[in-house]
This record gives sequence, structure tokens and C-alpha cells, in this order.
Amino acid sequence: MAASDIVDLLRLGAAHRTDTERVPLLRARGRVLADAVVTVRSGLRAELRSGHRLTATDLGALAEAGHAEVPVARRPTVAVFTGGDGLRPPGVPLAPGERFDACRALLMALLQEAGLEPVAWPILPAAPDRAEGALADAAQAFDLVIACVEADERGDPRWAPLLATDSAHDAIPMALTPASPGSPSAPPLRAWAAARGARAPRSLCLLLPEDAATVANAWSSTGARLIDAMQGVVERGEEVRAASRPPSPGVFAAEGRDALELDVAEAGARFAAGATLIDVREPHEHALGVPDGAIALPLSQLESGAAALPAALASGKAVALLLCASGQRSLRAAALLRTRGVAAAFSVRGGAAAWQAERGSSPGALGADALDRYDRQLRLAGVGAEGQRRLLDARVVVVGAGGLGSPAAFYLAAAGVGTLALVDDDRVERSNLQRQILHTDRAVGVPKVASARERLLALNPSLRVDAVEARVGPDNVEGLLRGADVVIDGSDTFAARYLLDAACRELGIPLVYGAVERFTGQVAVFDAGRRRGAAPCYRCLFPEPPDAEAAPNCAEAGVLGVLPGLVGLLQATEALKLILGLGEPLVGRVLTVDALSMRFRTLELPVDARCPGCGADARFDGYAAIDTFCASR
Ligand SMILES: [Zn+2]
Repeated sequence: MAASDIVDLLRLGAAHRTDTERVPLLRARGRVLADAVVTVRSGLRAELRSGHRLTATDLGALAEAGHAEVPVARRPTVAVFTGGDGLRPPGVPLAPGERFDACRALLMALLQEAGLEPVAWPILPAAPDRAEGALADAAQAFDLVIACVEADERGDPRWAPLLATDSAHDAIPMALTPASPGSPSAPPLRAWAAARGARAPRSLCLLLPEDAATVANAWSSTGARLIDAMQGVVERGEEVRAASRPPSPGVFAAEGRDALELDVAEAGARFAAGATLIDVREPHEHALGVPDGAIALPLSQLESGAAALPAALASGKAVALLLCASGQRSLRAAALLRTRGVAAAFSVRGGAAAWQAERGSSPGALGADALDRYDRQLRLAGVGAEGQRRLLDARVVVVGAGGLGSPAAFYLAAAGVGTLALVDDDRVERSNLQRQILHTDRAVGVPKVASARERLLALNPSLRVDAVEARVGPDNVEGLLRGADVVIDGSDTFAARYLLDAACRELGIPLVYGAVERFTGQVAVFDAGRRRGAAPCYRCLFPEPPDAEAAPNCAEAGVLGVLPGLVGLLQATEALKLILGLGEPLVGRVLTVDALSMRFRTLELPVDARCPGCGADARFDGYAAIDTFCASR
């Protein structure tokens, strides 16, 4: 496209950037005042100028002053017709059914980014007279009509209304951006614009060439500027002329996808020889690690011009290797860089996945499944790839696959805690299902740990779930807990609680305690094993087990099913925080939940200097002694 065509296009497009409508006060809230300065009569405060966003207060004042409607700025609406795959990204073959959708999707996204309101119009009807009607309808309803056709479709009678120069359809004037200057079917743009003076066109027709590389070229050099022009971002032709360096003809003409791509071996050789490796994935993907030696430069920033090219490439002689997740975006980036004078820009075929597979993945790299699965937490500050790796490397022992263990293990599995060990010796009973959500009706009679394991692996097959069908006792407690990063106490007997507490102290493992009864629950983190004297243990809270009457279990007292759900999730939250080193763990505090009053309270729990578990005089006489002591109550 010649520079003069671009200038004309800008002049035409710029007329679209503001539009005004009068809107009743009722609907004007939040909109931007346009065109006018509205001064409300004396006694009322509001004096509003163009560009002011209307608030409820303004509207009230305007109403009091007798205004019924106000002029507001309107975002131009755009109807988008696509007549082919002219806007597909280069090198991406699309199935016949997909191609219209793909073009539209791309163009719509670009227009939306530009602040316009695009609406995808159905593909033009095949019959010319109906096509004409469709275009005329669109021209009535929208500020702008964009129709995209491929160069080889220009002879298509459907396009005749757009291509006609005799203005038989003056209701839809048009501007043409000929992909091939001098094409006989393209009326001279300047002549067309001059004939209409300052009046804006109602439609723009982009004629794009059919071969993918040239499309990429044309799109990257004119598409963004066209949108800028419609927004009024770029107004001066001179700037555009300076900014646009029209690619030398034929740069892409002879090149297809093959010429834009290198396989990993070839790319690796060029990399070793000093080529610049650019990772064009977006920032949240970069957070997961950029390949060694690569520069992170998101495609979105390259396309918008927000990011400058590395100095090494400015000479135009260096080799650029572009890398994305799978090799599609990097293909676009390669085509784009070539338009910016980097003649040797190549996409690495297969993307980062192939690059890592062939060159040896970096230790601890997350696979594609993990990137996808944990996407929402990978974006979190404090988690990211490093945190996710910590979770995947973690081992959490969940004692009890019941009311507390169910929700806790479910969410820990979902979050990607790499190894979960479930310890329980019960079988699923129907009366469990009211709260033990890991188990299903079909699992009644099945060992809880087996039922839980199946359910957890169905949620996240990449984990290791150890199903330990056992009851925590003095002989096995240390063996069960050894190697754990965190222990979740979902047990339902005092003997188990005191044993877990003692073993966690001995082994130096944080214990996430939870308990429920009827409508109340409590949660705490006991970390006396690692922080003796600074963090309390369970026995700082309950030095001795209560007698059976004072502490009935769920079977006797009953429990509202959601209560263990609430408490189990709080336990899972604490476990994740402990593994990630995030936030403030519930150490030295007990959180209590009262579902009836729906109150959460946090009680301070100081270390008890005389605690029989962790106090100065505490003596550990072995697990059997604890068991005996509990049994005697
Ligand atoms: Zn203690």
C-alpha cells in the first residue's frame, strides 16, 4: 500500500472518531458528555464540560434545571462482514467451516481493543441483490461497515455494490484500500475522498490479498493504523508516513510458512551462533519461566508498538528466533518483525514445548497440563511457577477421609499438591454422605481411602495419592507422618489428636487442626515442633482430653453437614499458605466458627509455659504412654 493511500485512509477514518447522540437523562449515567458545555442555572452546582463522565448527582442537577436529555459521546459502532479468510493469521490453515469465524474473531478483537463496538454481521448472501440489501441495511444501522474480501474475490458480483464507482449506492459510500495499487477495480482513493469533501465515508472496504504472508504484511502495516485512525489516535499523515516503513515489495511474495519457520534443531544451531531468542508469550506465561537466554517480549506489545525491539536487532542484520507456546503466535511475530526490517526473523516450529522437549526441559518446568490447570493461581503474586512447583513437590498427610478430610483433600488435589496421603480405616456408610463429599452413593461399603483416592485422581490425574487404610496408633503414627510438609488433622478421636500432636512435635511438622460439633467449628495451626516456645501445640489448648461426656463425637451429637465443609476448607487454606510461605498462618490463634450466628472469631492462643506437650518441663514418654493416657479418660 502506498503511503498516500494510508494518509487518505486516515483522513477518511478520522471522521469517525467522535459521534454524538442525545440521550434521555435516565440512560445517560456513566456516559461521556459530548459536544457541549452544559451550564446549569444558578443555585445549582453543576457546570459540565465536554468529556465529563455523567454521575447520578450531575443528572439530578440537570433534571432539576429542566433538562430532559443531554448530548453524549458515543463509541462508533462497526458492522464487520467477512467474505473470506483474508484476515487469518499467516500460515494458519483453517477448515472451511472455521475460516469465517476465525477472521471475524481476529478483526473483532482488534476493533474492540481500539474502543469501537464491532458487531459481526452474517456472511454476505450469495445473491448480489441480497448482498446489496444487506450492505444497505448495515449502513443504516452502523456508523461504519467493514467488509473484508480476498483479492481474488474482487470479480465476485456480491462485491459489486462496494466496488461500484458510479455512486449508485450513495447511501453506502466507501473507501477502498487497494492491496495491489493500480488494480483496475479499485477506484482512486484520493479522487473518491475529494469528491465528498469533508463528509465521512459510511463504509470502508479492505481488499486484502489472498496469500497468507502478504495478508500478514498488509495487516500489520495498515490494520493497526487504520484502527488508530478511526479512533483519532493518529491524525497527521506525516507521522504515519514516518512511522510506516513500507516493506520492500516481494519480501513475502515468494515466502510461505516454510520460509518463516525453523525447526528446533536449526533454530538451536542459530541460537548457538548468536541469534537473538525472543519469547513472545504474554507476561503471565513468562511468569512460568522464559527459556535460558531468551528475551521476554510479548506479542501484544510488539504488535502495539509498546515494546521496542532489542538493540541487537535494530541493525537489521541479526537473526531473530521467535518462540511462543506452540508456534502460532511466533509465526505472526516473525512476519511482523520482517515488516520492521528484521529480514531474518524466524518462528521456532512447535514453540516452547518443542524447544524444551528437544533441548531438555529446564528442571522443574511445568508441563502443558499444569500450565492450563493451574492458570488461575499461576497468575497470583506469591504463587506463580515457583509456588506451583512447591505445591507439586509437597506431601500432605490428611488423617481422616471423612467430613474434614473430604473438602480439605479435594481442594488440595485441585490446587496441585503433588502427593496426598490419606489415612483412614473406615468404610463409607450412607450416613457419611451428608458431609463427606469425597464419597459417592456407589462407594457405600468401600474403604474410605480407596473411594477418596479414586475421586481425587478423577479430579487431578497427575497427582500421587497414597491410600493408607489404617488407624492412627502409637505404633504407626511416626511412620505415617514422616516426610510430610503439612499434616491435616481430620480425625475424630482424642487419642488420634494427641498422637498426631505429639508426632508433629517430634518430627517438626506443622499440624493444621480442625474440629466440628453441631453448629460450631474451630481451626488452628500448631507448629511447636518447628518453633518450640514460640508457637503453641494442641496441648497448650487442651492439656488433657476431656471426658467422653463433655466431648461427644459427631455420631452422638450430630453435625450440620456444611460445618465440616467450612472448617475443612479453612484447613486446606492454611495448608496451602504453609507450603507456599504465604500470608500469616493461624499460629497462636484459634479461629472459631458459629454457623447459627454466622460469626467468625479469632482467639489468641499463647504458648503455655507449663504445657504438658511443649512446656519447659514437658517430657515425652513415647506414643504408647499418650495412648494409654487418652484411653484412661
Ligand atoms: Zn503446648
